[in-house]
Amino acid sequence: MSSSQIPVAVLGATGSVGQRFISLLDDHPWFKVVALAASDRSVGQKYLDAARWVLDTPMPRYARDMIIVPATTEAVQARVVFSALHNEIAKDLEPQFAKAGAAVCSNASSYRRGEDVPLLLPEINADHIHLVKQQRLNRGWSGCITTNPNCTSTGLTIALKALDDAFGVKKVFAVSLQALSGAGYPGISSLDIMDNVIPNVANGGEEEKVEWEPRKMLGKLNGGKIDLANIKFSVHANRVAVIDGHTVCASVELVNSVEPEVAMQALRDYAAPLSARELPSSPRPVIEVRSEADRPQPRLDRLTGKGMTTVVGRVRRDPILDLKFVVLSHNTIRGAAGGSIYNAELLVNENLL
Ligand code: NAP
Repeated sequence: MSSSQIPVAVLGATGSVGQRFISLLDDHPWFKVVALAASDRSVGQKYLDAARWVLDTPMPRYARDMIIVPATTEAVQARVVFSALHNEIAKDLEPQFAKAGAAVCSNASSYRRGEDVPLLLPEINADHIHLVKQQRLNRGWSGCITTNPNCTSTGLTIALKALDDAFGVKKVFAVSLQALSGAGYPGISSLDIMDNVIPNVANGGEEEKVEWEPRKMLGKLNGGKIDLANIKFSVHANRVAVIDGHTVCASVELVNSVEPEVAMQALRDYAAPLSARELPSSPRPVIEVRSEADRPQPRLDRLTGKGMTTVVGRVRRDPILDLKFVVLSHNTIRGAAGGSIYNAELLVNENLL
């Protein structure tokens, strides 16, 4: 490890999101992976043997012979702890790491609603990171917990930010078509999902998350808390037989109604706040606008900007509200591991580690 590299760990390293972390942290310019943790099923094994690798890029060499350790503060000593744990486990473990002084960058939903916990998409709300100062005061710990949103909220909220800044957003009606990798590994049985669409993702809870999380991220930092954005959401969440990439079809009512071409230009022109613009994981561009009638498509567009760019297409008039469009975002890259790494880079850039 070079003396300037920051030691990081991954909790839940063998899972769907954990594997993305392993892949994206290979040769990261700032971070060096020093520990990989998972459940008792995997502890003591080499990563190569414990993880059933499902990505279409090879397992990075650095991870292959690392021995999986338990997800405890004794076994995992790192300044940044990336959490790809399920919610119930994260709820218990993440505060232990924050107390021990680590910056926890979490994918779980356990703390997303916490008043003093940043829910971050740095390209739209980088300033919310300063909530960690309030969190440290409130909770008396030297570490912190930062979170990224549900993978379906991610692309939708980034597109809404560009529209909200330019024209004001009042109402959103959205229908998701969510990829299989969003259900973790091994996920949904093939006999359930082939030839099928399954509504009510994750047996409930998903639609409520996508109706609430964007309001926090589009809200304003007000001292030590966030004032939620005054936008009404109605969401349907569906699982479809796509491996990676969540598609969302959205209709919006605007404060100032505009022609689709004007909205497309505002989406194209959207730029991240300065503090989040030049980080190693910054999306380039933040939003790619497609003009073809049949794009975006998950298979063709999910790796735009190395999977960090939000792709928007089919921007057109909505006969009931004002505008409708389609958003695509890579769920395990921008919507999970890549998003957490981007959050950690922002913490470093803001001297909050
Ligand atoms: P997953 O594929 O089921 O992986 C779960 C991971 O947690 C595995 O590494 C597993 O290790 C580990 N684990 C289980 N019990 C544990 C314990 N008691 N202690 C330590 N580690 C334990 O799940 P996933 O899809 O990666 O999701 C991880 C988290 O990210 C969830 O909170 C999910 O909601 C969130 N998320 C997922 C996505 C996505 O697109 N998949 C997007 C955004 C957010 P073993 O292999 O040893 O069992």
